Order: sequence, then structure tokens, then C-alpha cells
Amino acid sequence: MSTATNSTTSRWSALAESVLGGDHASADEAQAVLDAPELELLDVLSAAYRVRHHYFGNTVKLNYLINAKSGICPEDCHYCSQSRVSTAEIDRYSLLDSHEIAARAERAVELRASTCCIVTAARRPSARELREVSEAVRQVKKRHPALKICACMGLLDDDEAETLRAAGVDRYNHNLNTAESHYGEICTTHTYTDRVETVGAVARSGISPCSGVIVGMGESRDELVRVALELRTLAVDSIPVNFLIPIEGTPLEGSQAKIDPRFALRVLAMFRFVCPDREIRMSAGREIHLGTLQPLGLYPANAIFVADYLTEQGQAPEEDWRMIEELGFTIEPIGGPLGPVPSAETDVVSEPSAV
Ligand code: SF4
Repeated sequence: MSTATNSTTSRWSALAESVLGGDHASADEAQAVLDAPELELLDVLSAAYRVRHHYFGNTVKLNYLINAKSGICPEDCHYCSQSRVSTAEIDRYSLLDSHEIAARAERAVELRASTCCIVTAARRPSARELREVSEAVRQVKKRHPALKICACMGLLDDDEAETLRAAGVDRYNHNLNTAESHYGEICTTHTYTDRVETVGAVARSGISPCSGVIVGMGESRDELVRVALELRTLAVDSIPVNFLIPIEGTPLEGSQAKIDPRFALRVLAMFRFVCPDREIRMSAGREIHLGTLQPLGLYPANAIFVADYLTEQGQAPEEDWRMIEELGFTIEPIGGPLGPVPSAETDVVSEPSAV
């Protein structure tokens, strides 16, 4: 191995050592990951995998989505097929009743998901929606006490968060989506601050906060780094990293060329270095943008959605299971922890040997 190759390998290895030692990756280091040259991509992934392995071993957490209320949202999020400005051809229906939601949660168990996400398209939940979803959560928990429930119902205040916590909701998702400086470009009906405040209400309630991003909405690399640092500051437990699906009929239809799959891998690695012990979920759009490189995404990421997204098709579950098995990874069983594996095995993963 040449001296140059040794020094690039040790550069990413040193970053892994540094974050495993408790240092925070800086904005410059995060930016460097996004800008890493092609020749160093595998070294970046190897170093990110060391960090992922330290906290999560080789487990992959599966999440399953239930679209419990579809397509009649008054907000104007430009990426979303369910917004009031979308003309996308999707199913539109009001809130499913609690029995129907609970029945659909059975599918999560069949698909080996350890978390079932109940999503409603809304600016914020009405009192009736909170009651119905709370009742559904109680029914699901009665049948499957170990199945984790994540709710995603829009903006939330402290009282609403407490209602969901009391019903048994384990986690609440509310994505920041992009950096504050870019937020006005993707939504005008609520603000970035509204979203940050909801994440705060969730955390105060004792529910595990989940908040992530959508990559590919015209943001700069610097903005991607800034939203990653913000999510670290907010101490969210789980970070879905979505890659924009430019859905026909939405304002962002056709606005983004395909994301370079190798850049998508750098983005996942960047999130792993910035938020080393948090769940990083390779989320919507992975099939389109990472394509055949999806398995490499599981070196930095430790979670995925299984089956379909809210209004878009995902990869067949059997393909996900096979991908995980062929990587030598394992699916986290129902009842596993929401956070890092408490007694993460010793790190047996070494840097690539010289060739
Ligand atoms: S608030 Fe949620 S459901 Fe409504 S338009 Fe925005 S992303 Fe879509």
C-alpha cells in the first residue's frame, strides 16, 4: 500500500476513533465526508461501519409504515404527495378506525418489523384523531406488547405528546427535513421552528424523538451538514435519511436529477459520524437512488423501512431480508432496544488490510 493510501485510510480511521472516544464530529469533518474523493469512499464506509458496529453490532432494525389517514393535508410541503398542492394520484381517505389500524399492525409482525409507525397526513392531530390513534395503540400493545409503536401525526404540543405517551407510544417522528435556511423553499404553511418545537415537546414527554431529513430538495452540502448538527443538538434518537422521490403532481416533481448513489452513501456515513450512537435509517428513495449499492448503505445505517412507503412502493420484503442475510447481518427481533445495543460486542471489525 502506498503512503498516500495509508494516510487517507488513517484519516477516516482517526475520525472513527475520535467519535468513538466521545468527540463530536465537527462541521468541517462532516463536510469532508460529503466531499471525500472516490478513491476513499470504501475507507469512509469502513470507518463509518466501525462506529455503527460499536453501537449496533450487525443488527438491522426494520420499521413498517401504516398510512392511517391519507392525502387530505392542508399543508403545502412541496415534496409530499398528500399536501393540498399535490395533484398526485394517490388514495385519499380520512382516519381509519382503531380496529383497522390495529389490524394493519399485524402486517408489521409478519414482516419482522420491530417498530410499527402509524402515520396521519395532517398539520396536527385533532382531538378525535388523538383518541382514535391512542385506542389503536392500546389494542396493538395488548396483542404485541414488545412491538414498538412510532406515531407521526404532525405538529404536537406538550399535552398532545403526553396523551400519546400515556397510550403507549414509544417514539414520535417529526422530520426537520432540511436546514432552516432552506425551509422556506420547501414549505410555506409552517416553519422550521414549528418543527423544532414539536421535537422538543416529544422529548419532554418522555417519548423517544425521531427526526430526519430528505436529501435532494435543492439544499447545499453545507445545509445538509447543518441539519445533521441540529439533529445532534436536539438529541433525537432516530434519524430517517430519505432521498427525494420526485413524485409526479408535487411541486418538486422533476426538480432533482437522480442523486449519485455514491454521494448518498457519503450522506449516510456523514450522519453516522455526526450522530454516532443514534439509529440512522436508510429510508424512502433508497431503491431509486442507491439502487444496486443499497447493501453498502447498511454499513453506516442500521435501520430501514420494510415494504411500502406512505404512497409509494418500496422494495419487496423478501429482497430486503435477502440483502441483510447476504451481508451477514441480522434482523433485530421484536422487543429489541430502541437505542444502542446495551452491551455492544467488542469491535472485531478492522480496517481493510493492505493489498
Ligand atoms: S404536514 Fe405531513 S402530510 Fe402534510 S403536506 Fe407536510 S409532509 Fe405531507
